[in-house]
Amino acid sequence: MVKEQLEEVREHIREACARVGRNPEEVTLIAVSKTKPIPMLQEAYDAGARDFGENKVQELTAKKPELPADIRWHMIGHLQRNKVHQVVGKAVLIHSVDSLRLAQQIEAEAAKQGMGADILLEVNVAREESKFGFFLEEVEEAARTISAFPHVHIRGLMTIAPFVENPEENREIFKKLYQFAVDIGRKNIDNVTMDVLSMGMTGDYQVAIEEGATMVRVGTGIFGAR
Ligand SMILES: *Cc1c(COP(=O)(O)O)cnc(C)c1O
Repeated sequence: MVKEQLEEVREHIREACARVGRNPEEVTLIAVSKTKPIPMLQEAYDAGARDFGENKVQELTAKKPELPADIRWHMIGHLQRNKVHQVVGKAVLIHSVDSLRLAQQIEAEAAKQGMGADILLEVNVAREESKFGFFLEEVEEAARTISAFPHVHIRGLMTIAPFVENPEENREIFKKLYQFAVDIGRKNIDNVTMDVLSMGMTGDYQVAIEEGATMVRVGTGIFGAR
């Protein structure tokens, strides 16, 4: 079942890319495997999935040693500073950096481990009270501050769009974040690139791709309801 669902999502990604003349290779599908058991992840792996997303540090670190070593693990959930040491060096990308203090902690840990840490800044585009993330007008200053951290590398932006019935309702949000990333990218801030735009989940990834997403995070669409 996972294999078929994964194939269907890939097909929808290709279709969304075709509608706007994008190359599907520009879009990385992250299989969001939170709460799902190892055999389901293995099934996705066997069907070709190599990027997996988890929202809890404990779950990521528990699953990683049970599965093939070439999986790229993405930390996509809110990260507490006291858990940073467990995730630096294990996740290829931390999508959910939502404060300067968290970025500072990642810097300290990456320095300690003698490695770089790739991150995205999480942006609360819709200014929802229930969500983490920087407001748009805070992002540039945060990026400039973090750009001075030698071990942390900002690769782009991430957003969790509002939960909506009709994905079209989120189109403006994706458009806005895309344009914003382009604008920040043009400022050529040292040590900051805007190549990654992580946006779109099961309900709205096709719209997100049409508006420029380079990473989509799909859980339910691949593994079924949680
Ligand atoms: C759970 C989760 C997803 C995937 O959600 P689905 O609607 O199941 O596709 C994507 N991003 C984040 C940050 C999540 O926590």
